[in-house]
Amino acid sequence: AQRVVLITGCSSGIGLRIAVLLAKDEQRRYHVIATMRNLQKKKELVEAAGEALGNTLTLQALDVCSDDSVKQCISSVKDRHIDILINNAGVGLLGPLESISVERMKTVFDTNFFGTVRMIKEVMPDMKKRRAGHIIVMSSVMGMQGVVFNDIYAASKFAIEGFCESMAVQLLKFNVKMSLIEPGPVHTEFEAKMMDELAEMEFSGADQDTVRYFKDVYVPSSCDIFEAMGQTPEYIAKCTQKVIESRSPRFRNLTNSLYTPIVAMKYADETGGLSVHAFYNLLFNFGSLMHVAMAVLKCLTCSCLRRRTVSPD
Ligand code: NAD
Repeated sequence: AQRVVLITGCSSGIGLRIAVLLAKDEQRRYHVIATMRNLQKKKELVEAAGEALGNTLTLQALDVCSDDSVKQCISSVKDRHIDILINNAGVGLLGPLESISVERMKTVFDTNFFGTVRMIKEVMPDMKKRRAGHIIVMSSVMGMQGVVFNDIYAASKFAIEGFCESMAVQLLKFNVKMSLIEPGPVHTEFEAKMMDELAEMEFSGADQDTVRYFKDVYVPSSCDIFEAMGQTPEYIAKCTQKVIESRSPRFRNLTNSLYTPIVAMKYADETGGLSVHAFYNLLFNFGSLMHVAMAVLKCLTCSCLRRRTVSPD
């Protein structure tokens, strides 16, 4: 029988690519329910899905920020039977803390944290009853390592990691699997959306030095890092497929081996000082963050660290 896969946030980026990859599986092992907040944004998915649409792929409206929408969508699934739930919907938030309202911060948590919690709360009881299922959560490297000026986004990903670590223990008792995918930068609309937001940001409340560090030091470095280290959404989709198809899927799945040293550094020094000072030096004591970061990461990425990542082959 086909495995039913429900994915959130499929109008663009990683979610769209996972939906298309699984729906086009040559052995037709999956039935994909690709969901998106606004079905008017289905064009790109419909084009990429081609003949899979109506066969191995169906579309549904789902806003992870709405209890009603989540309930309605899951109730419309035949027997509420979902084998694999992929929590992908998410939003970014960049900038000096002083210029971001608490209301705005809450919308990020409502999507990235409560959105995923809402989905799991609705789908998990049926998985527990069946003693089967796999929950995938699209986290980020920033779910394990904070990054300057991404304070609230990183916090929302840390929050979801804490939630998943806690849930995974109980779920194991019910034979329900839980896996985090932790990409580094990925070339999607995500980055462009944040840059658009930046262009409109007034930085009210933030002092001049902070605004300067953000605009003149952080933003260019971040763009360089995306350029040099970014992966494609297709690649993340293949990694996700590998996790789904693994007999004993891992809980943590970093997709980018260039980021394993950052995580290793964090666990190597329990005082936390190493990470904080390394990031400080990278940002403020060197001209270009990108060149130094590349050199450091490349020489630190030995084969044993590389094995810690998930890759399609
Ligand atoms: P994206 O902006 O292309 O995709 C995010 C999707 O989530 C969009 O389709 C958006 O419409 C949807 N979404 C937002 N709010 C929603 C809501 N309330 N209900 C339903 N859908 C909603 O960006 P992406 O890079 O494909 O992001 C997918 C996931 O990957 C996110 O969780 C993101 O945090 C994570 N991630 C992205 C990167 C990156 O660099 N792009 C890196 C690590 C992790």
